[in-house]
Amino acid sequence: MKTISFNQLQFRIFFILIFLFSGLLGAYRFFIQQPQLATSLIAYSERELSSLKTAIFQLNQPFATLNYDYSIWTDTYKFITQDNEEDKQEYIEDNYLDDTFLSLKIDGVFIFDKQFNPLFTKGLNHQTNQPLKFNFFDLNEYPHNKAINPQLKNAQRRLIDTEVANTFGTINTLYGPAFYYSTEILKSDKTGPAVGFLVFVRLLNDSFAQQLSQLTLTTVEVSHITTPNQTDIPKWDETVPLTALTPTSERLLVDPANNPLIKITLNHTNQAMPSLWSFETLMLILSMIMLSISVYFILGNFVIQPVKQLALNIEEMDKAKAYKALPKDFIITELLKLSTHFNALMDTVNRQNALLNEQVFVDELTRISNRRAFERFLETHMVISQRQGFNFSIIMADIDQFKAYNDHFGHLAGDEAITIVAQTLNSFFPRKDEMCARYGGEEFIILFNDTNITHISQKLDVIINKFAELNIDHPQSSVASYLTVSFGVCVVKSQPSDQNQHLTSETIIDMADKALYQAKEKGRNQYNINTIPPDAGYKKSS
Ligand code: GH3
Ligand code: MG
Ligand code: MG
Repeated sequence: MKTISFNQLQFRIFFILIFLFSGLLGAYRFFIQQPQLATSLIAYSERELSSLKTAIFQLNQPFATLNYDYSIWTDTYKFITQDNEEDKQEYIEDNYLDDTFLSLKIDGVFIFDKQFNPLFTKGLNHQTNQPLKFNFFDLNEYPHNKAINPQLKNAQRRLIDTEVANTFGTINTLYGPAFYYSTEILKSDKTGPAVGFLVFVRLLNDSFAQQLSQLTLTTVEVSHITTPNQTDIPKWDETVPLTALTPTSERLLVDPANNPLIKITLNHTNQAMPSLWSFETLMLILSMIMLSISVYFILGNFVIQPVKQLALNIEEMDKAKAYKALPKDFIITELLKLSTHFNALMDTVNRQNALLNEQVFVDELTRISNRRAFERFLETHMVISQRQGFNFSIIMADIDQFKAYNDHFGHLAGDEAITIVAQTLNSFFPRKDEMCARYGGEEFIILFNDTNITHISQKLDVIINKFAELNIDHPQSSVASYLTVSFGVCVVKSQPSDQNQHLTSETIIDMADKALYQAKEKGRNQYNINTIPPDAGYKKSS
């Protein structure tokens, strides 16, 4: 199975996290937040449009009230119904002086009888105080303007009192578009039939756009329409639901024949949807990246780095085939446990290894090296000798007439005697480059790093004397009253020629064995020495 490193895993998790987070964020914004926002932003724009409508009503409300008051007034009623010219004149002079125009902020007053005959007309620009001569009521020229008669069916709007016929709208005049307000003339108590209608006119001045802007809290632009071809734009008082966010909305003021006069352009506060990947979204993603990096470093510092170090330590141990205790300075409990238990496990393995080694190479009865250990030792020694020149001796030792000892004292006592002999022999060869091992039964083998025959003889004499000293009782022996040992030696000496190069350990051991056999032949409790090459035989009896 393909494995990946912690670093690769961390990178993958990092990118998956960022990808998922960005995806979720994008999906949330696109499917949930954006539609909600769109609905509320569109609703906001619709409120702005409805506030435009309200603003136009508000601007004209005082104007409408005044027109109503003057129309539903017995004085005005009398102006039409009575014939006294003086009274009529007095009514006009009392009520429609230039000052009246200024204080009422109107630019024209028109009194018509029921047949649309103008009984009184006066125009005065209330801002500039200039006399104005309107002719919009000339029905020959502007037949559609008859709609300003509130008693006609197409009366457009009733702002004040639904019982009283009145109409409100925009109309084109010689001096530009104007608002008009028209109410039928009744007595103050509204009794009797209407005798005509009173029209007030107010020119649309430059401050109109500004007033609308103030009332709607948006930027409103107003433009006069000279070529009336923009009829697809809704009228100012129509309610057209918005389907999408739009930067501007346009509305029309029309004359009584529905010809566009004024285009009102409202600049919406919310002109477009905020982008899906706005600054704040990017900041969120950036924060997520920062968070991931922090987690990356924290995890890296406390978990991944220590785990990597542990893996590295164990790898090094494996390569070197040598155990080294793992560090224990971990903050994470599990890592500390891992390290502690690994160390404990390795201690156990080491102890078991040592035990196994011992079992493999140590003789169970005598606790000295066994034959396998000796063969290994000799093998290594042979390789070194073949390189550096031979210079050692092999000594075979065998307990004399041990069968009789066994038979006399029993097997257990025999075992004890073998152990004493083994320990005694072993104690004479303590050096690292020497070895004394049990070769089998009551036989022992020794690698001795000396080829000087005098030295060997002296050493074996001492050993033979040692057994005399030990004086292990052996009544069945024909050699002595105590347990004795015989020795056969093979001394291997270095040669100028490479004669010894083909020498094997078997040959050397065989030579020693032969020497032992001769020592037995000669009467036991003595040693016999063979040499390779066999230049000088040597034997000595003790
Ligand atoms: P020689 O002087 O010719 O060596 O005579 P020997 O009796 O020692 O020789 P032999 O090889 O005939 O007998 C060896 C005896 O050593 C046989 C056996 O009873 C005894 N022996 C071998 N291994 C053990 C052992 O592990 N424990 C005990 N108790 N006796 C052993
Ligand atoms: Mg034997
Ligand atoms: Mg023997």
